[in-house]
Amino acid sequence: MFFIQVCFYKILMMGLKVAIKLIPQPQPVIFTGQHSSLALVDLIINQNIKRVLIVTDKVLYQLGITDKICQKLAENHIEVIIFDQVTPDPSDLIIDQGINMAKNNNCDLVLGIGGGSSLDAAKMIAVLATTRKTVNNVAGLLKIKAQGLPLYLLPTTSGTGSEVTMAAVITSSKSEEKLLVISPKILPIGTALDPILMQGMPANITADTGFDALTHAIEAYLSMHANEQTNLYALTAIKLICKQLPIAYQEGNNIDAREALAVASCYAGLAFTKAGLGYVHAISHQIGAKYHLPHGMTNAIVLPHVLTFNKLSSCTRLAQLAKAIGLDTANKSELAMADLFIEKIKKLQRTLNIEETITCLRVDDIDDLAKAALKEAHYLYPVPQYLDLKQCKKLFQQLMPS
Ligand SMILES: [Zn+2]
Repeated sequence: MFFIQVCFYKILMMGLKVAIKLIPQPQPVIFTGQHSSLALVDLIINQNIKRVLIVTDKVLYQLGITDKICQKLAENHIEVIIFDQVTPDPSDLIIDQGINMAKNNNCDLVLGIGGGSSLDAAKMIAVLATTRKTVNNVAGLLKIKAQGLPLYLLPTTSGTGSEVTMAAVITSSKSEEKLLVISPKILPIGTALDPILMQGMPANITADTGFDALTHAIEAYLSMHANEQTNLYALTAIKLICKQLPIAYQEGNNIDAREALAVASCYAGLAFTKAGLGYVHAISHQIGAKYHLPHGMTNAIVLPHVLTFNKLSSCTRLAQLAKAIGLDTANKSELAMADLFIEKIKKLQRTLNIEETITCLRVDDIDDLAKAALKEAHYLYPVPQYLDLKQCKKLFQQLMPS
């Protein structure tokens, strides 16, 4: 029975691969380097617009991260409307508030500034501000027809890669489910990877977001939809993150490490946009939605378990990753190299003081969580090896403290 289901999922993924190839995916204009955020503002100023809606969160706004940007826009006679109500894991209600603000003020452009939550919120506010639709109407794959307001994004963390992806995750206010929206209509026109905006990021957020980017790159590299281009992006991201994440964690103001991680996160985003994700994200999304835990942290905890499950099916790929990040692979079998890579991930987790288990995970919740994770993975992700419900529940049990 499971064999027949797997055949069905594989056919579905073949169809998805063709669809993704057919979808036009214009790449955003990407500025990089110190003060590149101001170059992005120059690009916005040249768009002949009157009113910009800045979508961000209260903390960033109060810290003054947006000040220089607002000032430059105002100097060029562009009115700035601030929507700073974005919270972690924003709900559809917050998106509705932002849409109303954009409509009531006749905004003609949206600029998202912040971490993944603010960027995802900005994407949805921009695309829905020109329609009467809600997030619930457009959740899923390729359900958006209308062209939204022009969108620009400025990441202040290096993790989600949201600045270059055609995906956004919004939490349903009714069911608390994570609603995944995938559409080329939410790709921004431009973005800037400005390490200056990332210098103040606390160590724990550096660790969580860095592990999110690492998971994007690894899942893209192991995906059945990986190609030469996505491999190159993913490998570069994995090498940069393994080297630079411990440095940025220890020295938050190290601008070179911040810049490297910003580029890595962007590359990981470009890789998974085409190659897709896997079980780590499918499982992590359910845990995050149920217990309100940071996405990067849950990814970090789940990642070694899924890699261990994939070890035989993805042995060659994991061995390649061990070599790529400079582990001592001389005279070792592929299986031994794959083990080395998984050990390295666990060591990185410990270096960054990330928990190894999900302490709030309840045994009574596992059945529902596992079913939801399999539903997400099997309809969206080209995984290298399929988990059945029993295996998935066992994996969830391994995440609990012993
Ligand atoms: Zn992620």
